Amino acid sequence: MQEQQQLRQFLKQNHPVTVLTGAGLSTASGIPDYRDSQGNWKISPPVQHRDFMQDEQLRKRYWARALHGWPVLYHAQPNKAHYALAQMQGAGEIGTIITQNVDGLHQKAGATDVINLHGYANEMICMSCGAKSPRLDMHERCLALNPQFADMAAAPLPDGDADIEADFDQFVIADCLNCGGILKPDVVYFGDTVPKTRVAEAKQALDSSSGLLVIGSSLMVFSGYRFARQAHAKGQPIALLTRGKTRADDLATIKLDVDISAVL
Ligand SMILES: [Zn+2]
Repeated sequence: MQEQQQLRQFLKQNHPVTVLTGAGLSTASGIPDYRDSQGNWKISPPVQHRDFMQDEQLRKRYWARALHGWPVLYHAQPNKAHYALAQMQGAGEIGTIITQNVDGLHQKAGATDVINLHGYANEMICMSCGAKSPRLDMHERCLALNPQFADMAAAPLPDGDADIEADFDQFVIADCLNCGGILKPDVVYFGDTVPKTRVAEAKQALDSSSGLLVIGSSLMVFSGYRFARQAHAKGQPIALLTRGKTRADDLATIKLDVDISAVL
């Protein structure tokens, strides 16, 4: 395949590159994507951080839907592309992987040098005392508190969400076992900011590498786009391997608009 050769060439000439991955990488693992090939929302935009913290009705709806959506995330398995990247990293062909995905699939595939830019969906954080706990505990506590929500037809959506019809007012949310505070998945929501130390770590990784390879991301969110800007400003080459339009199309050295798994 011509694109495969282009990518191989790119990785040879610029060694090692930092890899930035997005939702398009995990769709083959059964995790739905947010945006269409034009970069527009396929579904209504996800929960905003401030709304989540301030609106109990919204949280009830969120957790009721998550009862059905999250198991999809939890049980998702890496696909060929995750395994290929883990192998390439092990062989020293690529450097750090910065991922916008919260599914943990790079690590499940065996990659060791990974920065979860937007956090990890299988971990909870208490917004009052900061205690962390496994998401599985939250899930099981919510199931036990709301058996009437367990048996429902549901269509999975991104980020452990699902479409269900129910009376969300009836839902009882499990709170922090330490302090009774609000529990939130330890992920960066829209409208929230990525922790500064994590951004600095990712910038440092990119800075000390030879270029940027973006996979499966339209870069519509600034937290990812800034790495394309940083690479461009420093004269580092950028390769895009993703379906459809991206925000960095005019910054890219090469653009491969092809199937990710096939190329990797
Ligand atoms: Zn707490």
